[in-house]
Amino acid sequence: MALDLSRPIYMDNHATTPVDPRVLEAMLPYFTEKFGNAASRNHIYGWEAEEAVEKAREQVAKAIGADAKEIIFTSGATESDNIAIKGAVEMYAEKGNHIVTMQTEHKAVLDTCRRLEREGKAKVTYLPPKRDGLVDLDQLEDAITDKTIMVAIMMANNEIGVIQPMQAIGEICRKHGVLFFTDAVQAVGKVPVDVNQMHIDILSISGHKVYGPKGIGALYVRRKNPRVKLAGIIDGGGQERGMRSGTLNVPGIVGLGKALEIAIAEMPEEMKRLTYLRNKLKDSLMSQLEDVYVNGSMESRLPGNLNMSFAYVEGEGLLDGTERFSSLKRFSLYVSFT
Ligand SMILES: *Cc1c(COP(=O)(O)O)cnc(C)c1O
Repeated sequence: MALDLSRPIYMDNHATTPVDPRVLEAMLPYFTEKFGNAASRNHIYGWEAEEAVEKAREQVAKAIGADAKEIIFTSGATESDNIAIKGAVEMYAEKGNHIVTMQTEHKAVLDTCRRLEREGKAKVTYLPPKRDGLVDLDQLEDAITDKTIMVAIMMANNEIGVIQPMQAIGEICRKHGVLFFTDAVQAVGKVPVDVNQMHIDILSISGHKVYGPKGIGALYVRRKNPRVKLAGIIDGGGQERGMRSGTLNVPGIVGLGKALEIAIAEMPEEMKRLTYLRNKLKDSLMSQLEDVYVNGSMESRLPGNLNMSFAYVEGEGLLDGTERFSSLKRFSLYVSFT
């Protein structure tokens, strides 16, 4: 894409990303000539749409080491997070009603937990992060009780970019027989994710954080060892194995599949390129300014993320100086490279 110098440089790629032209191209036919309803089982229009959806399901599954049957499509990660938590609380009510999560989770997880607490449907433990932004594994294990049904911890944070120790969290969950749900929106397509190696049972994905379209997402729901069941939160036609009723967004689904296929193919080079750019910016800021700090672990971090604090500088002043640098928060600046 051409660089438009009349506009500020966009470095807020945790909030959203542009659609990759290759993704758009793959989507276009599904708005017009191939417009069928994927649930229409009795004619070519329906079959065509269904075939495209099943191809995308394979592409999404492959990106996280899952089986296509374990992927359900949603309207985005906010919905995926809601189904994961509310669906499990309803389905596993007999086992217990306790959830362990972290204070640094995305609002789609935190506000869902808060509502369930308010309605008396769940009890929630919100673990504080360590200084480096990571979970304290001993604290996590101590928080699990015989009433715990789920641990909900995001893989990569959408502000400070730290990556949680997924495999270790997964092992603790397995040991105690509780479900491991992760909002992996910022990790999938950016760093390797393997649901089996990491013992993940439920996982959220969003299209528009990986150069796909907005308004499409997915939820991975493990089918064996253990077989996970979630109650649907939208009632209707029973699509997506009853976990998410509603006519499928075929162009969006095609776009999500294509975006993840590209992300996986390009991941090794992208990780190197982004790490280089990120470190170059960090080193030049730190060598030219005093009292600047990196927030969160530098070792366990997304390649494209930088989150820094500037002492004695007010957030508003920095914001004015950078105009619409919209990712500026609380005297700190985070950028994620495209
Ligand atoms: C953006 C984001 C979401 C919400 O995804 P939508 O598809 O926009 O609903 C959830 N979790 C994290 C970590 C995010 O960054």
